[in-house]
Amino acid sequence: MRRIAWIMAIAVAAAPSAATAAPAGASDGIVRADARLAVPGSPANFTGKATVRPIVDAAQIGQTTIGEVVFQPGARSRWHTHPGGQAIYVTQGCGWTQREGGPVVRICKGDTAFVPAGIKHWHGAAAKSGMVQFSVTETIGGRTVTWLEPVTDAQYQAGATAVR
Ligand code: MN
Repeated sequence: MRRIAWIMAIAVAAAPSAATAAPAGASDGIVRADARLAVPGSPANFTGKATVRPIVDAAQIGQTTIGEVVFQPGARSRWHTHPGGQAIYVTQGCGWTQREGGPVVRICKGDTAFVPAGIKHWHGAAAKSGMVQFSVTETIGGRTVTWLEPVTDAQYQAGATAVR
């Protein structure tokens, strides 16, 4: 009996607290690929075809959210801001990004684009190349993004003359 009580005490101590609990189905800390499926990006947030795959939720490690977005050629986000800023690492292809008032900048595989908190910007694929981005976004007050108006075709096409 004493041994059983000791084992149970260990089990209780090892149980994750609410603050560090892994998502459902990940009691061992592993989130399997089929548990985080890509979903179509909402037309309310994207122009063109984009798919979004969540990778890390804010509750899992501090307040950092990580996700992957696959942009087909011509697809881009709406204008938006992040309350805690964002870093985007391009893992495939090439795309375009712009901060309000600045030029459209071309980014390609291996490049990282940073945007400070509150700066209005957009990012997406180039017109003739898809782009896959790995985004790292801080959560402030439960929010990672504030979506604004669509990037117009004229604004977007300025990327065709973008230089690095
Ligand atoms: Mn962004």
